[in-house]
Amino acid sequence: MKIGQHASLTDTGRKRLRNEDAVVVSAPLFAVADGMGGAKGGQLAAQLAAGVFSDHASSSGIDGETRLRALVVEANRQVFNRAQSDPSLAGMGTTVTAVVLEDDHLAIVQVGDSRAYRLRGGVLDQLTEDHSLVAELVRSGRLTREEAALHPQRAVITRALGTDPTVAADVFVTPTQPGDVFLLCTDGLTTMVGDGAIEHTLLESKDAQAAARALVRAANQAGGDDNVSVVIFEIVEDAWADPEPQILTAPDEDTLTSLEPVALLSGGVGEPRETVLATAQAGGRGARPRSILPLLLTALALALAGVVVVGAVWGSKRAYFVGADEQGYITVYQGVPWDITEGVKLYREIYVSPLRAPQLTPEERAELFDHDLAGEDVARERIAELERLVVAP
Ligand code: MN
Repeated sequence: MKIGQHASLTDTGRKRLRNEDAVVVSAPLFAVADGMGGAKGGQLAAQLAAGVFSDHASSSGIDGETRLRALVVEANRQVFNRAQSDPSLAGMGTTVTAVVLEDDHLAIVQVGDSRAYRLRGGVLDQLTEDHSLVAELVRSGRLTREEAALHPQRAVITRALGTDPTVAADVFVTPTQPGDVFLLCTDGLTTMVGDGAIEHTLLESKDAQAAARALVRAANQAGGDDNVSVVIFEIVEDAWADPEPQILTAPDEDTLTSLEPVALLSGGVGEPRETVLATAQAGGRGARPRSILPLLLTALALALAGVVVVGAVWGSKRAYFVGADEQGYITVYQGVPWDITEGVKLYREIYVSPLRAPQLTPEERAELFDHDLAGEDVARERIAELERLVVAP
């Protein structure tokens, strides 16, 4: 089988200043990467990893699984070494979901919470398993899928490429059929758009390009909290007439229009609020005049409601929980692990450990992140034990 029509699109979204996602479209190899890390780290990590996959896209006679495994090890080595050599890049890392078509099957490698889906017979199936805190909590029965979708730490991943000298990747193959459509995407799509809507969009779109545009538009219409990237390709019996990669650049008409209100004005995760406000006032990348007064009033009302509840919770001085911050560092929070809305939180950081969530075993994480509201002393003592065990003296 061969790759038929294919398209990709990557977009900054509506809340972030930079696009830290990267895509690889080099049939028969495709990948998405979602970088993390302060300053320029996230962008660099994703681009380094994507570069390794695109540089080695052509077949070398080695089977797909072995190739992908070797590429993920090489990408990990490059990102990790670069981070070691520059203190401003310390801790940078990236997700990667990469696939390569061979004959009648697709080899897949997965690290982090980007995803691969397959549309077959009108039904969308997620092929990869997220390496994320909330996915672990769902698998162990501590959270429902619905709770996971709203969890304030849904962006925390438990495995990343480039943060450690070695990387644990899922590598597997899945059989293909002519007519299958595959979608690779970063969490900027899946945290904004449900699987049902993704399935519907793929089924309704006239071709891969239209589907890519429609998915990015849907993520942005839902708020565009994060960078969003999609790669879509179809499996056909024979070679497609035009196998040139079609890397699209999202025109503003498709992703931002003044008629479509931004869901919430408040800040995206990890973005300073004044930056987000400044972006909104400048009209974002499109620099379109947009009426922000109703949004400001709504945000103000929500913020006031939040202040009342937060005051009540903090007043009790009894609620603590353990989680991880945006960079994955284990953190003790005072409050309860809920966001009223994005930007209006019922918790605040009181201690950030040098320990990162990916350094713990799944069992240790499950125990630590169990959301029984523990006392601060208990929470800190648990973390101190793990720091002694895990962090090198
Ligand atoms: Mn992301």
